[in-house]
Amino acid sequence: MDQNKLIVSNWKMNLNLSDSKKLINKLIKSTFKKKPYLKNIICPQFLLIPSISNLIKDSHLLLGAQNCHFERKGAFTGESSIELLKQFNCKYVILGHSERRLYSADSNLLVKKKIKIAISEEIKPIVCIGEPLEFRKNKSYLKFLEQQLNECVPECSEIIIAYEPIWSIGTGLVPDYEEIYEVQNYVKSFLKNNKFIKKISVLYGGSVSSNNIAHIIKKSKVDGALIGGSSLDDKEILKIISIL
Ligand code: PEP
Repeated sequence: MDQNKLIVSNWKMNLNLSDSKKLINKLIKSTFKKKPYLKNIICPQFLLIPSISNLIKDSHLLLGAQNCHFERKGAFTGESSIELLKQFNCKYVILGHSERRLYSADSNLLVKKKIKIAISEEIKPIVCIGEPLEFRKNKSYLKFLEQQLNECVPECSEIIIAYEPIWSIGTGLVPDYEEIYEVQNYVKSFLKNNKFIKKISVLYGGSVSSNNIAHIIKKSKVDGALIGGSSLDDKEILKIISIL
């Protein structure tokens, strides 16, 4: 593997303080730091960010958040600001995840605002897009994805898109490699119309495991993976990384 690859662990609302520290220590000790082409990004719950930031500060691991607010500060009870994420050394933020779109009403417009504020603090947004099953079945998935891209992506010089078909998240169902290839190709050519964008990376997310990672990365030509369930298990995530 000679090109830069991103492996993003989305821990979601999992792992307590001691389990997260154990997992981080195993990742720090692992041999994949010898893989300079690999960017390994850990996205824990907000409350874990300060301690994980401290644990990984001299390591090869990078820190990301699972969300941010679209305003810099103010009367937004229960929210966390981009400024704090920056202070704790977050370099990435996952935005527009389908679970946030579903349970927290994150719309395309909101996602766009969040992308803008993240970029303004030099935190790289990882923007999730993905179609529900019915759009895949009736073959209108590219139109669905195009609308998400159109409405979410602002004028910016670099963007990371995570293609996460909703029907694949946590289900064990993975699209064919040709299908992932088609979408990554489509996303890249569509975003080339945005004259501000100089660098586009496309990740795949949805039921990634050590059994399918090699094929996904090699055959569908994505720039990495966004990994939920498999990122919580030390043996599984280390195996995934060892394959790359
Ligand atoms: C996700 O929710 O971002 C995800 C990819 O989950 P999983 O790997 O568990 O399907």
